[in-house]
Amino acid sequence: MTGISSLVSDVLAGYRLTTPEATLLLKAKGRDTLTIVSGADEMRERRVGDVVTYVRNQNLHVTNICKNLCGFCGFGRKATDDGAYCHDKAAIQKQARLAYERNVTEICLLSGVHPGFSLDTYIDIMHWIHAVAPGVHIHAFSPDEVAHAAYRGKMTTPEVIARLKEEGLGTIQGTAAEILVDSVRQVICPRKVPTADWVRIIKEAHTAGLRSTATIMYGSYETAEDQARHLAILRDIQDETNGFTELVTLPFVHTSTPLYQQGLARAGPTGREDLLMLAVSRLFLDNFTNIQVAWGKVGLKMTQIALLAGANDLAGTMFTDDVTGDAGGSGSDYLDPADMERIVADIRRRLRQRTTLYEFV
Ligand code: SF4
Repeated sequence: MTGISSLVSDVLAGYRLTTPEATLLLKAKGRDTLTIVSGADEMRERRVGDVVTYVRNQNLHVTNICKNLCGFCGFGRKATDDGAYCHDKAAIQKQARLAYERNVTEICLLSGVHPGFSLDTYIDIMHWIHAVAPGVHIHAFSPDEVAHAAYRGKMTTPEVIARLKEEGLGTIQGTAAEILVDSVRQVICPRKVPTADWVRIIKEAHTAGLRSTATIMYGSYETAEDQARHLAILRDIQDETNGFTELVTLPFVHTSTPLYQQGLARAGPTGREDLLMLAVSRLFLDNFTNIQVAWGKVGLKMTQIALLAGANDLAGTMFTDDVTGDAGGSGSDYLDPADMERIVADIRRRLRQRTTLYEFV
């Protein structure tokens, strides 16, 4: 047995990986990659069986005007840039009504952090959506948006979180995490909340009874050591709060991003890295039930292979994703459950629709 295969066997026997060991696995090459992938698939089977889940959801873009202008993002713009927009009530309700007619159970806000928005703006948006899409679960607002609303309103972040929950927020987004290592954040997203604030705010949300996703945006500037540190932070939070519903792995889509154009980032992760991120997450995050593959970013064929590398969730139908499209990704808008069924049945697994909180529909 190689060092890698005995480590994978130990994990399957109940051993909890350390951060340096996760780094070692993330750096694996050649056939070792498949050993890790195979171990992760076995772990997935033990933890969640053969069911593959998806949520019927729709992304709703409110604005692409953003105070952060992160280097890895092709979506955010200054208000004066070509193509900048900020939708009004009528346009937001039109998108929400369409989502409702499509029988979605979740609307996911995907927007820039508009410098002029406040807590009241966020509450208005939720009310406008619920007025035309009653009962739909709103999944919105990252820790960075919570911090922004608190700053604008001279409030504390727990106060913002409590108001958002009272006014109809279903779950908070675990986005804006990117890589939770400040030396990396300084390069890829210097205006976003630092690691300590992200961790504090997500824990505040969990403590207030708002669950969230966890995310990792990998394959830009960071190292395997940084990725492992990030996963360790997520595991520690989950030990404390059990508030994460899933890990969403987000490969860097590079083409139209300033970071790539300035030579500061590589051209996104390779297929090996995509598989290892899922597989190592499955093995390392022993307190997460669900590992999600982002079909809109890796494509349908890689998505199917990802389901054999530790992933058990296909995210949502989405219907629209300008964030990936504007960064240079293609084929990212809509995935029909019939196409999900085809790739899932082909590997002898079962597709089930779920809610945002992983109850079967
Ligand atoms: S990643 Fe989000 S916060 Fe950063 S520029 Fe893009 S829209 Fe703005």
